[in-house]
Amino acid sequence: MGYVKGLKCRECAREYPVDPIYVCEFCFGPLEVVYDLDGIKKIMTRELIESRQHTLWRYIELLPIDKDPTSGLNSGFTPLVKADNLAKHIGMRELYIKDDTVTHPTLSFKDRVVAIALSKAKEFGFDTVACASTGNLAHAVSAHGAAGGFKRFIFIPASLEKSKIIASLAYEPNLIAVDGNYDDVNRLCSEVANKYNWAFVNINIRPFYAEGSKTQGYEIVEQLGWKAPDAVVVPCASGSLLTKIWKSFKELKEIGLIDDLHTKVFSAQATGCSPIVRAIKDDVDVIKPVKPDTIAKSLAIGNPADGYYATKVIQETGGFGADVSDEEIISAIKLMAKTEGIFAETAGGVTLASAIKLVESGHIDRDAVTVLCITGNGLKTREAIVGHTVEPYHIDPNLKSFEATLKKIIK
Ligand SMILES: *Cc1c(COP(=O)(O)O)cnc(C)c1O
Ligand SMILES: [Zn+2]
Repeated sequence: MGYVKGLKCRECAREYPVDPIYVCEFCFGPLEVVYDLDGIKKIMTRELIESRQHTLWRYIELLPIDKDPTSGLNSGFTPLVKADNLAKHIGMRELYIKDDTVTHPTLSFKDRVVAIALSKAKEFGFDTVACASTGNLAHAVSAHGAAGGFKRFIFIPASLEKSKIIASLAYEPNLIAVDGNYDDVNRLCSEVANKYNWAFVNINIRPFYAEGSKTQGYEIVEQLGWKAPDAVVVPCASGSLLTKIWKSFKELKEIGLIDDLHTKVFSAQATGCSPIVRAIKDDVDVIKPVKPDTIAKSLAIGNPADGYYATKVIQETGGFGADVSDEEIISAIKLMAKTEGIFAETAGGVTLASAIKLVESGHIDRDAVTVLCITGNGLKTREAIVGHTVEPYHIDPNLKSFEATLKKIIK
């Protein structure tokens, strides 16, 4: 254990020791974890990984942890579902759903990032954890933080879905509902983080937290039989997940666990909050902040912290982006449920609807081995589809009433 060399500025490459810091003192660039990949290459084999437990910790050498993990011990290793029905429906040859609707314990990919962040927070000796959240992070920090015995301060926009607020409250954190959008919440949290000595998972712990997203990429490659896909479609909020999936593929190539890497990375966003896709379509790398207006609240970040880097990855890999309306999100949620039996949250609707557009526009080849990153569970955003589903049949509690209805159903 312990292959982390330190932190490094993504802009000026200045190096820093492993500390709860996130921004370069000289150029204000974001800090990133650097590993001894040569050392990892010497010991990390496919066989070693395959001999381990089916959790995200099977890739521990590539995660920024020095001691035994203490959070999210059962998180990760979600199914990679071969989505043949859906593939047929949208005219593709080989399509997969990376199904993080069933991540342990809070049913979104945020269990991955929080597993790393809180394990690291414990190593650093923090007794209080905090976050600025678009919903799923609130849920994950509330849950993992409870199990880890942390005091928890969870900041959310007050307008979040009721299902997500209640899900977080079940673990009795200090939930702070801010009258404002996520970008307002985030700005406030930066001030709070400067003043209080707390582990803000997506602020001062962000370099470590963000590394957790790589585990989704490692799993995709392992589950495809140690092959990177031709195309991967990733929903973007801050853009962090997208950049880390690409980083995970590159690391596996570098340590010799895959031979070939030609994946194109695609971004999926809601039209009502699509600053990253806008930049891609305009072929620029400057992100123009927007005011979010979409039912995909988990992706509603108008000023994405990693937007610039996400744009770079998409351009560098030959990917592209698509954005979709609220109606398209709802139909895609229903399509995935109807064809594959997987009920995703609004972000999943964004990903599938965007993928369909990218296939239809020719940006994704119909023969490309394609993975959709489905990042959260539909039970957490039920309100999005209320009024858009079929209705139940109401009957009296007798056979006659049932058969009268049956006649109408099968007529
Ligand atoms: C947070 C989140 C994302 C993407 O987050 P990034 O900030 O881009 O890493 C995607 N899907 C869901 C459901 C999320 O909660
Ligand atoms: Zn710097």
